[in-house]
Amino acid sequence: MLDYDLHCHSTVSDGLLPPAELVARAAGRGVKFMALTDHDDIGGLAEAAHAAAQHEMEFINGVEISVSWRSHTLHIVGLRIDPGNAALQAGLLSIREGRGARARLMAESLARSGIGGALEGAYHYAANSGIIGRTHFARFLVERGHARDVRSVFKNYLIKGKPGFVPHQWAALPDAINWIVGSGGIAVLAHPGRYTSGRKPMGRKTLRELLLEFVELGGRGIEVVTGSHTPEQYAEFARYATEFGLLSSCGSDFHGPGESYRDLGRLPDLPLECRPIWQAWNT
Ligand code: AMP
Ligand code: MN
Ligand code: MN
Ligand code: MN
Repeated sequence: MLDYDLHCHSTVSDGLLPPAELVARAAGRGVKFMALTDHDDIGGLAEAAHAAAQHEMEFINGVEISVSWRSHTLHIVGLRIDPGNAALQAGLLSIREGRGARARLMAESLARSGIGGALEGAYHYAANSGIIGRTHFARFLVERGHARDVRSVFKNYLIKGKPGFVPHQWAALPDAINWIVGSGGIAVLAHPGRYTSGRKPMGRKTLRELLLEFVELGGRGIEVVTGSHTPEQYAEFARYATEFGLLSSCGSDFHGPGESYRDLGRLPDLPLECRPIWQAWNT
């Protein structure tokens, strides 16, 4: 079992717990090395780092950056970034501004299918009004009885072809990697098993092209053990890690009690052939 959890969310993005509570929960579940990786925002890192010190836990500054690559939305995790880096801060701010504009269009789309008040309703769930996303809309839709829980919302709403979906241009892959690496961090491809083209998986050929480009641009890691992978996918992505010379990362992608596939920590070990991402900073 791993005592590392290098991917989770607080109320600074779409998680349910404030940074200090998230850290306390992780500590209580045996996590010794933790990264907070909020979507497109690093505003929770100072509070989390402070809490981690109180729990004698090693804290890693992180972020999860939303990226558009070809027709796909990808998530790139940055680990050991410098939160004071100006280019990183400016890049993340531009993504957050885009989120605000998208949210207004999402609400209009929902209104056209008879669901009013979604913008205010979603912002009600955004503790940090600077960052608004589909999870906040999902919580509003659950509140209004349009779905049983947040997960089920994503079957009938907020996805391509359904009410509330708005195509969006996120950051470019080279930019996201440069912001991370330029601030001293390590770029990690998050939950590669989750990328799809419509309803179909991304496909091996496209994934190989992505990994090749990711490595050429300076990407160094890939999530192998994540809350969004099956055990079969741990093995599959361990093979890709080896093939492309990538370090392997692990994280729960915890968003909140009752809302996530996995709680914090207690992640299964990385497959034996993997080189853990922490080798990058422990050697
Ligand atoms: P956004 O970045 O605003 O497009 O929102 C993406 C977020 O929505 C992810 O980080 C998840 O928290 C959530 N999400 C996306 N798909 C699902 C799903 N199928 N079930 C639960 N949450 C999801
Ligand atoms: Mn999320
Ligand atoms: Mn993600
Ligand atoms: Mn995440």
